[in-house]
This record gives sequence, structure tokens and C-alpha cells, in this order.
Amino acid sequence: MPTAIISDIHANLEALRAVLADIDKRGIDRIVCLGDIVGYGPDPLECVDLIRQRCEWSLMGNHDFGVLYEPTNFNASAESAAYWTRARFDAEPDEAARKERYEFLGQLRVRVLETPPDLRAPVLAVHGSPRRPINEYIFSEDTHQAPDKISTIFERIDWLCFVGHTHVPGVFTIEPDGDPDFYPPAELTDRNYCFTEEKAIINVGSVGQPRDKNPSASYVILHPDRAEFARVEYDVATTAEKIREIPELNDWLGERLFSGL
Ligand code: ZN
Repeated sequence: MPTAIISDIHANLEALRAVLADIDKRGIDRIVCLGDIVGYGPDPLECVDLIRQRCEWSLMGNHDFGVLYEPTNFNASAESAAYWTRARFDAEPDEAARKERYEFLGQLRVRVLETPPDLRAPVLAVHGSPRRPINEYIFSEDTHQAPDKISTIFERIDWLCFVGHTHVPGVFTIEPDGDPDFYPPAELTDRNYCFTEEKAIINVGSVGQPRDKNPSASYVILHPDRAEFARVEYDVATTAEKIREIPELNDWLGERLFSGL
């Protein structure tokens, strides 16, 4: 039984609905989420409610954390979006619904180590990185600019680790010569990474704000022997228009969705 791994929804309801429809069409009924359900986008409550209904579990991302506690290391537009998002949660008139949403955000874990159905060993899931699960970015450029960082991170995992956070899908590996490498999905055969005995860190990309110059929503289908990178087109214009209508959300947050930057 495959598992769909989604991440970085960022309150983009059109993208989330399109991805869930694609998952349903494939007959996949197990979905997990690596965090950043909210932040940047116009529909935080609707996205939290859908993730609660549809996902077996979700992790805590830095934007979920920023709404629950205080935003840390956010730029001005991300911080403004976080405070607007919190105001949306607080404005819920139904007290029970308001409490439930906050309780859901509050119980999100920072890491899950489990053996998914039909896989032969446990795999780790975090939002950012195995050593700083909520906040650390693992960039593709790190493979040549900071190889020691990648090596140190790989020491924290036993086999496979699934991450989000950078919004750029692909696979990090350590090559036989000891050097780290990164493979975007386009460089993999049929956009599949086949598991070996070797360790790998797999970034599933972002549903609601892709940043690899492809505006389609990104997610991963975890099969027993491989990770398949999937892309789904959605109605970007509707999301961008909703963002434009909310003064607290910077228009750029909608514009960037068209280019996937
Ligand atoms: Zn994110």
C-alpha cells in the first residue's frame, strides 16, 4: 500500500484540493504531511481542517510553529502573514472549533520514525533536517558549498529521511567517493528514486508554494521500493487573486506562484 507524502501546503487550498484529488484518483488512502500547513497563503483554516481529516499524521513546520508561538527568523512578509493567520484562527466564532484547531497545531510532532506499510525498515520524517527538525534548510547548493554540513546531517539517519522546508524536490545521497550529491526529479529515471542499502534524504517539494521553477504542486508517492515524484497542476490564478485581496498578505506571495520561484 503506497503512502502519499505531502508538505508545505502554506494555506493554498486550490493546490491542496488538486493534490488530494490526484491522490484519490490513484487509489492511495494513506497520506502523511511534513508540516507548514499554514503561512503565506489565504486559506489557513480550510487547509488545517482538510489536513486533519485526510492525513494520518502531520509534523510541525516553522510556519505552524510561528502561528502557535512567535515567528522566528521570518522576513517581513512571512511575519505579517503569520500574524494575519493567527488572527484568522482567533476570529473563529465557534469556540469548540477554535480550540480544536489550536489543539491540533499544538500536538504536531517534530519528527516521526516509523516503518511505512510494506517497507523493510524504519524511515525518518522531519520538516527541516534531522538535527534541527523545524528550522534547518538542506539546500542542493550545500552539496558543493557545505559538504561537511551534509555529511554531518547524514550521520543522524540510518537509512531514508523525508523532508520538506526548502520547497525544492529531489534526493540527497552520499556517493561512493564520500561526496554528497543532489538529484532533482528530472534527473531520475521516470522521476523515481529506487531505494538501495544506501542512505538518502528525500525532499518531497511543496504543495502550495513550489520553488523549483515549476508552478505545479509537488508531492511524493512512497512505494515499497521507490519514491515517485508527482506534480499536479492547479488553479494558481484563484489563489493569487485571493492573496491580492488580503492586505496583510504581500502580493508577491501570489505572484511567485505563477513562476514557481
Ligand atoms: Zn515551507
